[in-house]
Amino acid sequence: MAHVPLYREAAIVLRTQKLGEADRIVTLLTRERGLVRAVAKGVRKTKSRFGARLEPAMVVDVMCYEGRNLDTVTQAETIAPYGEAIARDYIAWTAATAMLETAEQLTSERDPSPQHFRLLAGGLASLAGHDHEAGLVLDAYLLRALSVAGWAPSFRDCARCGAPGPHKAFNLASGGCVCPSCRTPGSAAPALDTLELLGALLEGDWVTADASEPRHRREGSGLVTAFLQWHLERGVRSLRLVERS
Ligand SMILES: [Zn+2]
Repeated sequence: MAHVPLYREAAIVLRTQKLGEADRIVTLLTRERGLVRAVAKGVRKTKSRFGARLEPAMVVDVMCYEGRNLDTVTQAETIAPYGEAIARDYIAWTAATAMLETAEQLTSERDPSPQHFRLLAGGLASLAGHDHEAGLVLDAYLLRALSVAGWAPSFRDCARCGAPGPHKAFNLASGGCVCPSCRTPGSAAPALDTLELLGALLEGDWVTADASEPRHRREGSGLVTAFLQWHLERGVRSLRLVERS
């Protein structure tokens, strides 16, 4: 009998697609194998042994065997049912959808991604628990995800020469705030409070973030979205569905 490599992984369900009458292809973000695309057989039957465990935003412990193109899920146990809690709240759901889509774009197959896994699981836990406003959780995740990918924006010191900030000008191509000498035409001039909010979201300073005003959250979201679209070729389509307060 041929050797079939079997593996077990903690995974977050990013996306599901129908396959035939009863099956699904699930896209998973795993801790040690990065993105995994696997077939879940019979998952759409009423009495599926997977139940609702392989729905988006669920954190599961999966057992899979490797295939030439697609792996196959043989077992799935729930680690954290964030997807269930988030699906009951439309605004949290749209934020989660944008996070899952971003995670798929920022990670790749056969590339261990424990940092991104932790980050996404933390963001989903926060949405499920309604710890903070959903838009803030989304923006914190997006900024940190960009940072894990090596594109940490600067919201204080000059992104080009390192001159200590705060600086008023913000330039996407330069990587964030720029000092008067590095400033190029076309730089934005967001409110200093907006830059402080974004810096707080990047660092996980929730006291500052939770105390921010709606207008700075809105301006901040615009900058985060622009920053993300600048780095991701395909953009993140589901960001358009997110309702901002
Ligand atoms: Zn500078």
